[in-house]
Amino acid sequence: PEEEIRQRPWLRYYPAGVRPHLNYPEIPLQRLLERAAEMRPRQAAVHFFGRTMTYGELNQLANRFARVLANLGIRPGDRVALMMPNCPQFVIAYYGALKAGAVVVNCNPLYSPRELEFQLNDSGARVIVALDLMYPTVRQVVHATPLERVLVTRINEFMSPLLRRLYPLKAKKDGTWVEIGRHENVLWFGRLLREAPPVPPPVEVQPDDLALLQYTGGTTGTAKGAMLTHRNLVANVLQTAEWTLRGRWDEAHQQVILGVMPFFHSYGMTTVMNLAIALQCTMVPLPRFEAEMVIKAIAKYRPTMVPGVPTMYVALMNHPKFHKIDVSSIEACVSGAAPLPLEVQERFEASTGGQLVEGYGLTEASPVTHANPPNEYKRNGTIGLPVPDTDARIVDIETGTRVLGPGEVGELVIRGPQVMKGYWNRPEETARTLRDGWLYTGDIATMDEDGFFRIVDRKKEMIISGGYNVYPREVEEVLYEHPKVLEAAVIGAPDPYRGEMVKAFVVLKPGQTATEQEIIEFCRQRLAKYKVPRAVEFRSELPKTLIGKVLRRALLEEERQKQAVG
Ligand code: AMP
Repeated sequence: PEEEIRQRPWLRYYPAGVRPHLNYPEIPLQRLLERAAEMRPRQAAVHFFGRTMTYGELNQLANRFARVLANLGIRPGDRVALMMPNCPQFVIAYYGALKAGAVVVNCNPLYSPRELEFQLNDSGARVIVALDLMYPTVRQVVHATPLERVLVTRINEFMSPLLRRLYPLKAKKDGTWVEIGRHENVLWFGRLLREAPPVPPPVEVQPDDLALLQYTGGTTGTAKGAMLTHRNLVANVLQTAEWTLRGRWDEAHQQVILGVMPFFHSYGMTTVMNLAIALQCTMVPLPRFEAEMVIKAIAKYRPTMVPGVPTMYVALMNHPKFHKIDVSSIEACVSGAAPLPLEVQERFEASTGGQLVEGYGLTEASPVTHANPPNEYKRNGTIGLPVPDTDARIVDIETGTRVLGPGEVGELVIRGPQVMKGYWNRPEETARTLRDGWLYTGDIATMDEDGFFRIVDRKKEMIISGGYNVYPREVEEVLYEHPKVLEAAVIGAPDPYRGEMVKAFVVLKPGQTATEQEIIEFCRQRLAKYKVPRAVEFRSELPKTLIGKVLRRALLEEERQKQAVG
């Protein structure tokens, strides 16, 4: 109808086969895995370093893990933390926790002890499943948190027998790791799985129950848990599936999704792990991004879908081996999480002859809200159209209440079934971000006459460095802890590879001297690696507003000009 198209101009451009409205089943997320196991028990669910796990096996292992958690006293609504890179154990632990009725709390494996401690306390997690490499970090904070049990797994636990032998019990060489399995509160994940029956505990999970506390800085930079329900996650994975398949549901299981994006972040979680399970197709998790590993995986597993970030595509393009492999299996490379420079997009498409499709999302929306159609309707330089059943508007930046027209610049706001319930224990932040049913994204955008959106800036002061989000305030807080530092400001300086680079400006206390290296080292001990400033510039003072607020913008402008000149 004309009125609907006037309100939602993008409907006219919905590519053939994508339905603008979907039916969302009233099921918990784990039902998708159970359906896959019932309908395609022998279908390959996960390929991981020479070993294939079928849907039948995966579902059974998740059932066992649900039973393990119930035996450890985990009840519906309890929080279970995961601290692992992409691997089969992640999928087993995530779905097993949901089957036990628990709420998953994803922890970034790069977290420093202080970051982990905060998140475990804030969420109240009772159990954590961690990779052995992360165990030393967990061990440092465990006594200062509500954790009752630490379950440890090793990266090769579900690899081929050959690769399992290649990584012999390296963990045992380190004195701290010997206690795993000897201490009643620190247990081997794999052993517990083997000992538990494959029967999940009889818990009822409703669509509006919490599935996930997904930590994010949001628009203010203070770490907080976005409360995502089963309904949110089921909706977003089906919205993404509809977009991916465009009606070809009978071929869904033939898709192969490359899992470079971390599952502990909402982007990889929804567009790789949950999507593969919803499509009953195969995922290929890679534990970290390494151009060579990605290139080998593309050559070997012939993925059809590759979700990534701009820096990943830059790294691939600059790798000599990338141009030697056959990439024709890929229907679409997807770029999200950070602005995709048009130059990178065009160069990538020219060199591969394929499509690099930009999408957009944020943790608070599970995360996908926009994507470009991977066909002739695609518009490079835009984030595309809202996904099914998702409304998007541009409102004025100051009040957020006046709806702006095509071409006008304002804040992007979103409404749809994938939008979170709120922030965990943060009613004020929730009220600021969710207003009248709309999610205020903190991103500045415009919409064209046809309903394609373009991100132009960020209202929030977040830095996106190589696809990782860094909040200036968090780094500044650490700098302020340094005994020689008087004042500090952190910005995202333009960087040709990472998009933005964390740069600190520091004013030292009178009479003090310090080196750039010393400041960087101090940060390295207290922050995840990607948050550590790559450059420190010493100043005698920082630009400030009249009321004394440091003008990060002015520093950023200086930096931009310097680079434009240099
Ligand atoms: P997160 O909550 O970690 O997923 O971060 C979400 C934020 O990443 C958004 O609010 C944007 O600022 C940024 N972002 C995501 N996708 C894009 C994109 N395609 N272009 C520009 N910024 C993006």
